[in-house]
Amino acid sequence: MNVPELSPPARLLLGPGPSPVHPRVLRAMSTPLLGHLDPKFLEIMNEVQAQLRGVFRTENPFTIAVSGTGSAGMEAALVNVVEPGDTVVVVAAGVFGNRMADIVGRCGAKLVKIEIPWGETCDLGRIEEALKAERVKAVGLVHAETSTGAHQPLEGLGKLCHAHGALLVADTVTSLGGVPVEVDAWGIDACYSGTQKCLSCPPGLAPLTLSARALDVVRARKTKVQSWYLDASMIADYWAEGKRAYHHTAPISMVYALREALRLVHEEGLEARFARHRRHSAALMAGLAALGCAPQAQEGRRLPTLNCVKVPAGIEEAPVRKALLLEHGIEIGGGLGPLAGKVWRIGLMGEGARQESVLVVLAALEQALAKQGKAPKPGTATSAALEVYARG
Ligand SMILES: *Cc1c(COP(=O)(O)O)cnc(C)c1O
Repeated sequence: MNVPELSPPARLLLGPGPSPVHPRVLRAMSTPLLGHLDPKFLEIMNEVQAQLRGVFRTENPFTIAVSGTGSAGMEAALVNVVEPGDTVVVVAAGVFGNRMADIVGRCGAKLVKIEIPWGETCDLGRIEEALKAERVKAVGLVHAETSTGAHQPLEGLGKLCHAHGALLVADTVTSLGGVPVEVDAWGIDACYSGTQKCLSCPPGLAPLTLSARALDVVRARKTKVQSWYLDASMIADYWAEGKRAYHHTAPISMVYALREALRLVHEEGLEARFARHRRHSAALMAGLAALGCAPQAQEGRRLPTLNCVKVPAGIEEAPVRKALLLEHGIEIGGGLGPLAGKVWRIGLMGEGARQESVLVVLAALEQALAKQGKAPKPGTATSAALEVYARG
């Protein structure tokens, strides 16, 4: 079949991911391929590992990029440390906590699920209770729950898990590169992310870091890892300096892309990047409040990277998203599961966290709400955002 040359429309990606990609990253992806065992490529892998240790704030030698999207990172983190018969505690406060629980079940482990209302976060006390109740192999939870916009604190949790002989597994897909992630300071044993959210790289790789404690658990396994592809001990032989044994062919162009995306992160500096995400989220949330959209996540626990707000009463949400996409070229997200039809999820991730994104999405929302006869005076939302910017 003949199809025309590819020419996708320009979109401003302000949904739950993927996020906008910097032209430098796209350029890196179009540079010539190297073989996956070429010494020059191995050098590039070393560079990416060092860059990843910087963003994860870890000294872990095992810090790599798993082939696959964020979910592959989740699966890799869990299947390597969990064996049949283990007990694993998972905090489920949204879609991604539930996905972790699903994987734990597929590993043949006993799942202890701590259910949290969507938009809320879990107190350490509840995790401690579960750790005291029985011998637990690992505790899994999501740092930035993209389905609700809630920001789960992780400080102190590693220490608590370790005191009970459990590992801490954390999902930082929507936090890495957008809000602080402190793998070593927080004692996270298996921490994974994805390239397509706050790192502003296309989907396709999943950064993963494992602590010495996690690697001990992997080495002490009685059973083989259920996934051949994601078996950390074999992948480690490819990423480990000196070994470099063929396992599977690395997605070369994606590694180039991640290298460039991480160069952009380090050029900006992590603290400046976090501050940028906070600033633009504050402006966006002020504008959304002016449109009558209340936050979904509990006060004090809101992610700047994923702004989840309730659709105002009397508004049909799907036509609004459709108008944004087709008339303005802006993508935002709707709700998942119990929040379907009830919320909008506006991602300000990586390159998307810019003043121009905030103002243009608010202006488009004003117009789309006006069509349903529900908008305040034109300019109300953008003015509210501009006031936040004026405060500096
Ligand atoms: C997006 C996301 C994932 C899954 O990433 P994919 O790239 O879609 O596979 C996992 N966890 C969280 C918190 C996410 O936001």
